[in-house]
Amino acid sequence: MAKLTISDLDVKGKKVLVRVDFNVPIQNGVINDDNRIVAALPTIKYIIEHGGKAILLSHLGRIKSEEDKKELSLRPVAERLSELLKQDVAFVPVNEGQELEDAIAKMQAGDVLVMENTRFQDIDNDFGKRESGNDPKLGEYWASLGDMFVNDAFGTAHRSHASNVGIATAMEAEGKPVAAGFLIEKEIKFLGNAVDNPEHPFITILGGAKVSDKIGVITNLIPKSDHILIGGGMAYTFMAAMGQNIGTSLFEADKVDLAKKLLDEAGDKLVLPVDTVVTKKFDKDAPARVASGDIQDDEMGMDIGPKTIELFKNTLKGAKTVVWNGPMGVFEMPRFAKGTLEIGRSLAALPDAITIVGGGDSTSAVKQLGIAPKLSHISTGGGASLRYLEGKPLPGIECISDK
Ligand code: ADP
Ligand code: MG
Repeated sequence: MAKLTISDLDVKGKKVLVRVDFNVPIQNGVINDDNRIVAALPTIKYIIEHGGKAILLSHLGRIKSEEDKKELSLRPVAERLSELLKQDVAFVPVNEGQELEDAIAKMQAGDVLVMENTRFQDIDNDFGKRESGNDPKLGEYWASLGDMFVNDAFGTAHRSHASNVGIATAMEAEGKPVAAGFLIEKEIKFLGNAVDNPEHPFITILGGAKVSDKIGVITNLIPKSDHILIGGGMAYTFMAAMGQNIGTSLFEADKVDLAKKLLDEAGDKLVLPVDTVVTKKFDKDAPARVASGDIQDDEMGMDIGPKTIELFKNTLKGAKTVVWNGPMGVFEMPRFAKGTLEIGRSLAALPDAITIVGGGDSTSAVKQLGIAPKLSHISTGGGASLRYLEGKPLPGIECISDK
């Protein structure tokens, strides 16, 4: 069923609690990349422009000690948000108690407030990890601060924490609305459609390091996809299962039986590399050659070869939906980035397909290659998007009210 979204809410004059994802890379108070703050702006601006009061919650990093608290305050994030919004943003250095409640009571329509890192609740108390352990009392307390709740933190949607599931549960118990923000709405639209209702031909491209990381995705998407292209480090376990020599390439011995089973079941739906760029040393300057089924004992596969690129490109022709997770090779080294680059380019050139990329490294690959703007959707959550592609429920999305 369709989920309630922020545009369904009447936020005017209301205290709108928003779980955002401000988990940015930060060092000595300096934010190295503010993409996630920028990504949260549409939801925050919507509330401001419609006369609501935006009360923002987010975690930042992991808090295991008092020391961590110094490094991982959200204060610099609130300052950056204020610059981006070109308006004052109140920062409250706690996330519980009188100081916070007073600051909220003072808010006017259009005001924005950021409270301190929700994971400060993970230490220094008698209740264990209150935020990460989803202490219901904490969820109830946060819920009591607002009139409605918007979850826009897709990156943590695969986790059940007090600041997403806890607040949502308490809000719903009181009959208050729980909605998706624009970021989560977009993730549901693209990932959800691809997994539940893709337009065919639907091609899945899988790569990356390990078969074991992607088993759930493969098994969920085999029946739904017309083809699954397999590249990257995970391809070699499949090639070994077919009896090919893979030299010193990445290999998971305990996944060979599974690979055989998947090959049997999926038949020619699974498309494997027919040639491989190999080298003798895992090094960016190591000499390389193309092996077509003749990888030597001292060679390792680093990228898909030119014939495989052609094969994959041909299979992609006419695709209407493409999901891509996992680079085709060791793209961090320019010499072994060609497979990833060429597959990315052919995705970007598909005339009228929905093209979706998920996974942390795949996302950095398409950004690094400059093709991100030409794709339909780059999923913002590593673990969360994998979980979605596995067809498993995401607690942070399940907890949003149905329309
Ligand atoms: P994602 O984060 O997109 O889900 P993964 O984490 O599964 O992707 O895999 C990404 C990593 O896989 C990259 O660091 C890349 O270098 C590595 N990789 C890809 N192909 C190979 C290969 N042939 N040998 C070793 N590592 C590989
Ligand atoms: Mg990764």
